[in-house]
Amino acid sequence: MPETIDFERVLSSLQAAAEKLRSQKDYFNDLDSQIGDSDHGDSIDSTFKKVLESLESYDTSKRDIGGLLKVIGRGIILSGGAAMGPLYGSGFFEAGNAAGGAAVIHVEELVAMMRGFVAGIEKRGGVKLGEKTMFDTVVPAVDALATAVESGEPLREAMNKASAAAESGMQSTKEMHSKRGRSSRLGDRSVGYVDPGSASMFVFLSAFFESLVT
Ligand SMILES: [Mg+2]
Repeated sequence: MPETIDFERVLSSLQAAAEKLRSQKDYFNDLDSQIGDSDHGDSIDSTFKKVLESLESYDTSKRDIGGLLKVIGRGIILSGGAAMGPLYGSGFFEAGNAAGGAAVIHVEELVAMMRGFVAGIEKRGGVKLGEKTMFDTVVPAVDALATAVESGEPLREAMNKASAAAESGMQSTKEMHSKRGRSSRLGDRSVGYVDPGSASMFVFLSAFFESLVT
């Protein structure tokens, strides 16, 4: 398995992840019906429909990984969607800034790109760990990816560890009290349910990471 990732691979992996998320729209709405207003699947669907539109209209001859991610981010932000859309938008935009204009990135640059993704979400959402959000999925996933890459593990192994950490991160939100959004009004009653945003982030990351090495 090559330890570099090219533009075409990033593009096809984003496409695979977006399609996977859209196919699980009903599942995310169901999760949200337990502690929210049953619309998380709809938000994910419209956000990632926008992502697919950006992917389709992008001039692929540029082979610019950072440029692609910034176009995706800007597309989501300008579409004016509510809820978690702008968080993904800011995440993609900062991931693009971190990736720069390269056509091929090395695994260390993939880590920097994913750190940018986290930073964008953090900046836009002002969110912290333990608040029962997507952040509780993405932070441990990217930390696990960084640790695996730093210890020189093969890319596939690093991706598996990152996806596993994303899954435990998602599961950890079950025990948390919601501090954000509508579900925060539930207090103790938000405990016992996985946060829908952490679940969609797990699906996004695991599909993206899997596709990067398949
Ligand atoms: Mg909702």
